[in-house]
Amino acid sequence: MISRRQFTQTLLAFGLSSLMPRHLLASAENAITVPPSVMLHSRHWRILPDLLVRLRDLGYSGVTYRDWEQAIIGHTTLPEQPVILSVDDVTAVQGSPAFAYFERMKDNFLEAGFGAVFGVITRPDLPQDTERWGRLSAWAGEGIELATHTAHHSNLDNPSWLVEDYESEIVESAAVIAERTGQPVRTLITPYGSGYDIEHRSINPQVLSACRQANLRFLVGISTGQRHVHQDNEAGDVLYVGRANPGDEYTVNDALYYVQYW
Ligand SMILES: [Zn+2]
Repeated sequence: MISRRQFTQTLLAFGLSSLMPRHLLASAENAITVPPSVMLHSRHWRILPDLLVRLRDLGYSGVTYRDWEQAIIGHTTLPEQPVILSVDDVTAVQGSPAFAYFERMKDNFLEAGFGAVFGVITRPDLPQDTERWGRLSAWAGEGIELATHTAHHSNLDNPSWLVEDYESEIVESAAVIAERTGQPVRTLITPYGSGYDIEHRSINPQVLSACRQANLRFLVGISTGQRHVHQDNEAGDVLYVGRANPGDEYTVNDALYYVQYW
């Protein structure tokens, strides 16, 4: 099946732009294709080594949102078949049991030569493990991107929230990660896919405002969403991008299916 983007590009290639609705014409000029993106959690540690081998055999290279940003602004080019793998729910809170699994997954990415993204929940209300923050900082130095996954894993569409709630969940969580790791944060992975209205293709205005304040570039959904963004890249504004969620207990083949048919 031909995608809307291919359709618009075909019309443009044949000089048929007069047949196109104006909003499509405007967006076609600014269209960017989102690399295939898949969400993972700590429970996927079992399938990750095999998934990485299979992806590599198929010619894919793991990149981060930061890598992609550099390509969008023309500083670099992405490999021919980029894929963005992101792992949610990392935290440096004292005693959180899953940390060892996240670390194992980080090692798998590095051994495979894959860039990858981890979504960090900062939980400023709980005692922090300084040693774990040191490890996350080392990950950042090894090419892993650390995204904020908010302070408390909150629903960003909470109607009772005030501006300061958005600041503490988004702006402050990004600032904590940057301060603790020395890596600027450019990506917000939203809990529960909140913060974006898929039907109307619009970012929650409060979320957008907080992302701008925190100098974030990417708002990443938790489930399948937009695969092509049509925005003015030069403005450097916040881009909403989707991810594939092959399911809670998915297999390597499930994940590969979503990557290949992105
Ligand atoms: Zn999460």
